[in-house]
Amino acid sequence: MSTCPRCETTHSVEELSRHEYPRLVLVHCPTCDRLLGRYRRHGDAPGTDHLRDG
Ligand SMILES: [Zn+2]
Repeated sequence: MSTCPRCETTHSVEELSRHEYPRLVLVHCPTCDRLLGRYRRHGDAPGTDHLRDG
């Protein structure tokens, strides 16, 4: 589960808007489209970098 800091809605991981790139997946809030995190496409258990506001 992930709660968006902008619109404060909570979504399951499956609901998040994903933008997949060759080495990176960006995850956005499906409600307000705020960037919530980015995942490295690197094995089965990618780490998450939480971004600062922006
Ligand atoms: Zn949001």
